Amino acid sequence: MRIVLAICLAVLAAGCGSTSSNDGRTTVVAAFYPLAFAAQAVGVAQGALDYALGYMQERQQFGKKLSDFQGLQFMIADMGMKIEAARQMTYVAACKSERGDKDLTFFGAAAKCYASDIAMEVTTDAVQVLGGYGYVKDYPVERMMRDAKITQIYEGTNQIQRLVMARQLLQ
Ligand SMILES: Cc1cc2nc3c(=O)[nH]c(=O)nc-3n(C[C@H](O)[C@H](O)[C@H](O)COP(=O)(O)OP(=O)(O)OC[C@H]3O[C@@H](n4cnc5c(N)ncnc54)[C@H](O)[C@@H]3O)c2cc1C
Repeated sequence: MRIVLAICLAVLAAGCGSTSSNDGRTTVVAAFYPLAFAAQAVGVAQGALDYALGYMQERQQFGKKLSDFQGLQFMIADMGMKIEAARQMTYVAACKSERGDKDLTFFGAAAKCYASDIAMEVTTDAVQVLGGYGYVKDYPVERMMRDAKITQIYEGTNQIQRLVMARQLLQ
């Protein structure tokens, strides 16, 4: 939530909706939008991890809590690690946006692409942690998995984000 708010404020500061390009603001805003969706993806992924963590400390199987099974511990460690990497990429891109750095195009696209791919992985893993309950609508992680999917599609699909990154690298 804090990331999204900071990003919204930065969009306003950059002059959202401006058609003027003489001060570079339009470029900043255009490169900025993918970044807002990177923040959304991080939030979806964090929500799924938080839910899975709570569930695995309550649910018991074979006389133990799910959180006692090392196979699941490895899974949640990977989920947390990936989310943190996506969050840091998003922060770096947000800082570049505030400064109007020339490589924001790459970093905005990279943050959106990476964070949304991670959100897809993490939410799918969260469904796995909940087992059959993860798949049904009574629990929120199946919705989070679908919410993660759209972050790979809108505001420029991840294929297009990769084209954007490649073009900036090849400049
Ligand atoms: C819930 C939702 C909300 C949306 N909100 C908005 C909105 O607010 N504003 C808005 O403008 N749009 C919005 N969209 C539209 C969204 O941005 C598009 O769906 C998205 O850009 C993909 O376009 P498309 O669906 O036409 O897919 P297509 O362009 O037909 O792409 C199909 C597939 O081909 C791939 N592809 C296409 N071109 C290339 C290429 N050159 N190289 C490699 N792969 C390629 C795509 O990555 C994708 O995997 C929304 C969509 C949804 C589902």
